[in-house]
Amino acid sequence: MKKQNLLTAAIFAGLVLGLIAGELLFRHYSGDVPTSWLDGLNFVGDTFFMRLLKMVLVPLVASSVIAGVASIGDPSQLGRVGGWTVVYYFSTMAAAVILGVVLVSQIGPGEGFPSELRIESVVAFDAQQGTIQTRVSEASGTGLWGAFQNICKQLIPSNPVGAAAQGQLLPTISFSLLLGIVLTTLGSKGRPVLDFFQSLFEAMMKLVGWILWLAPLGVGCLVAWTVARIGSVALVGPLGKYMLTVFIGLLLHGAIVLPLVLWLVGRTNPYRFMWQMKDALMTAFGTDSSSATLPVTIETAQKSGGCSKRSSEFVLPLGATINMDGTALYEAVAVVFLFQCFGIDLGPVQLGIVVLTATLAAVGAAGIPSAGLVTMVIVVEAVNGSLGDQTPHLPLAAVGIILGVDRILDMCRTTVNVWGDSVGAKIITRLAPDTPGSVPAPGSAPGSAPGSAPENSSGNASE
Ligand code: ASP
Repeated sequence: MKKQNLLTAAIFAGLVLGLIAGELLFRHYSGDVPTSWLDGLNFVGDTFFMRLLKMVLVPLVASSVIAGVASIGDPSQLGRVGGWTVVYYFSTMAAAVILGVVLVSQIGPGEGFPSELRIESVVAFDAQQGTIQTRVSEASGTGLWGAFQNICKQLIPSNPVGAAAQGQLLPTISFSLLLGIVLTTLGSKGRPVLDFFQSLFEAMMKLVGWILWLAPLGVGCLVAWTVARIGSVALVGPLGKYMLTVFIGLLLHGAIVLPLVLWLVGRTNPYRFMWQMKDALMTAFGTDSSSATLPVTIETAQKSGGCSKRSSEFVLPLGATINMDGTALYEAVAVVFLFQCFGIDLGPVQLGIVVLTATLAAVGAAGIPSAGLVTMVIVVEAVNGSLGDQTPHLPLAAVGIILGVDRILDMCRTTVNVWGDSVGAKIITRLAPDTPGSVPAPGSAPGSAPGSAPENSSGNASE
């Protein structure tokens, strides 16, 4: 068996064993799995896999964006690639949100939700002082304008090194983007620094290749940890219909909408590409984090998925931070569901607000576990604000209703997030293919190659 196939089979086995072990633990302890088990599983998965991925993340993202931008080179082509990338991100996220709104309105998972359970969850959420409660209260009160300001501030960091040291990706990306552009304009003077980052990128990718061998263990433990806390019984409980709505939405978006876009715009067999990206998708499922998965996504996109270096090194890091189709869809379903639970009818205006704000909230969500649950607060507040004084408003503590099952949904929406990023990279590969001589190898002259690279006819966006 080839090394790559062996790894894929091992990750898949880890995932399946994790699901089974988690469910067995849940049943054995009747849903009350001892903390020692849960802590142990989380410790192994987090420390020996997630932390290793996070360890390479900042240097990988910085070097990847700088090398990617440098290999695109010519600012006008970079502008075109960047423009289409943003168009792709926003249109697919908007499509995901609209799909979510339509499904949740049709299925109505919150109608008839038991009121005792509703009150119990809200009171329990208010009474606890956990991480999620803190994150939700920090996110509340900022409103849309606050969320927008926050994104702008991240895009223009006053101290990019400090932001990178704190592991913040968006500021790191925007600074690297500018640095990459400037370096290419410097010609031979920029070459040593570009060579350095290109070489750093190669080194990080090699490290990722090694770390990936721990994926079966990491993914298995993390999945077991999640399932042991929630159990498959949640699927038939009062939240079952809500979870099913999210699953159907993610399935339709991931297996039909995105493949259709890839087939039509990227002229690629979408399901073959999905198969090629399986290592990244399984890692996303296990880790619940598109940021932590990013190193694997880049590696898989380049080595198996046939994405150009020029597109994947630039599009994937940006996508992991701002393109979140799964999160956008989930936020729309969750918000409308919660309003339904409280018997508050949302009219077309409110649903329109959900579409707009859920897209923005998903952009603002970091690629980390439960980020979507937290930024959902922005959507709830915007809808509340439009309801007027006569209609009851949704308390923020209502997120307590869905908190318990969030992690399972997070696994699925993160997978769709990473799939959306990968589809974007594959589509942009048509626009920015690797042409011979366009990809600077360490020690070569990256500054001069990109601009002079002949533009491949197949790289035309209008094709
Ligand atoms: N966990 C998701 C991600 O990393 C974000 C979310 O919570 O929806 O992509």
